[in-house]
Amino acid sequence: MSLAAGYPLIAIPGPSPLPERVLRAAHRISPDIYGTELAATNEHVMAQLKRLAGTTGHLAPYIGNGHAAWEASAANMFHRGDHVLVITSGHFGRSWAQQVNEMGVMVETLDFGALPPEPEALARRLAADRDQIIKAVMVCQTDTASACMADIPALRDAMGDHPALLVVDAIASLGCAPMMMDDWGVDVLISASQKGLMSPAGASFVWFSDRAALRGRTDLTTPYWDWHLRANATPDALWRFWGGTPPVQMIFALDEALRMILDEEGLIAVWARHAALARAVWAAGEAWGQDESGIRLSVADPASRAASVTAMRLPEAEALRAWTATHCGVTLGIGLGAEDPANALRVAHMGHCSAGMLMGVLGAMQAGMVALGIPHGAGALDAAARAIAEPA
Ligand SMILES: *Cc1c(COP(=O)(O)O)cnc(C)c1O
Repeated sequence: MSLAAGYPLIAIPGPSPLPERVLRAAHRISPDIYGTELAATNEHVMAQLKRLAGTTGHLAPYIGNGHAAWEASAANMFHRGDHVLVITSGHFGRSWAQQVNEMGVMVETLDFGALPPEPEALARRLAADRDQIIKAVMVCQTDTASACMADIPALRDAMGDHPALLVVDAIASLGCAPMMMDDWGVDVLISASQKGLMSPAGASFVWFSDRAALRGRTDLTTPYWDWHLRANATPDALWRFWGGTPPVQMIFALDEALRMILDEEGLIAVWARHAALARAVWAAGEAWGQDESGIRLSVADPASRAASVTAMRLPEAEALRAWTATHCGVTLGIGLGAEDPANALRVAHMGHCSAGMLMGVLGAMQAGMVALGIPHGAGALDAAARAIAEPA
């Protein structure tokens, strides 16, 4: 018997659950793209996105996913043959390094495996760069595969007065964990619509500082990706913001989602909710891991765990994922980038996620472990409930 009928729970780390309100906001016939209404909404969305990132700097929007924003930013920052340092803590950092390398940039990685970046290692590497050939330090705030969280202010401190740009991929963390681009000295910030921003997949964003803008056009800059054209668009020239026809329904979706995040719940409360939900998942994971069950959270140090996604080693995870989907309508994330993906999974708690949704996900996991005979320590749901009852 399946008990899966009802609202599906999607606990994969992107795309994240879409609020009904966001879907409804997008469900509209396109207005005149040369009219004033859409231009005003677009301008408001751009201002809201800057608020979200904590910047008064520049913003270039793109129709495309996170990979598009990776390419867009690199095409504006680097000349062919430039030397950059990519800090990696998992699959996403490594993919980013590879993509930039394939564009003709000399990529060096500071690879921490699936562990969080160590600022001292960055400081040592930059101290050895006496000729200052490293043009940028690039890092994922959250690597969505390992579920590590990098300490961005600590990495910025570790850079000292080295002139490299600090480039942060916040695709899995913006709108989930604190980001204060200007206060933290981030030069280039990258994110996308479908994770913490609670919107459909298909738009991505590159925020950049005056210092980054001063790079001017490089020999990798092509007209479509040029961030200056987009960031300097006048409010009524929608085609300039988006390099052609604007993604009309996406703009309505983003407008609604950003209103929910910034104007209704409030960014501080949104971060606190993610932190509380994350602690509930960790509490469950730690309880399941008792009695030598073989279940283990991937990131040992709570200070380095992501607010938006938790990765765990879990024997027979693949079977558990299939069971929760079929029997409970709960979709868990695959063990992307894990040493042994069949025995690893990820639980997303990003964006439009309530304590009720999260307890549903954890409860379905617990039921699946019982049904499949997967050994697990007792008391996980109690531990999660306590974390929710007494948020720190
Ligand atoms: C999801 C994600 C990406 C890739 O984004 P796409 O929209 O799938 O191209 C890159 N970096 C991080 C940290 C991500 O979480």
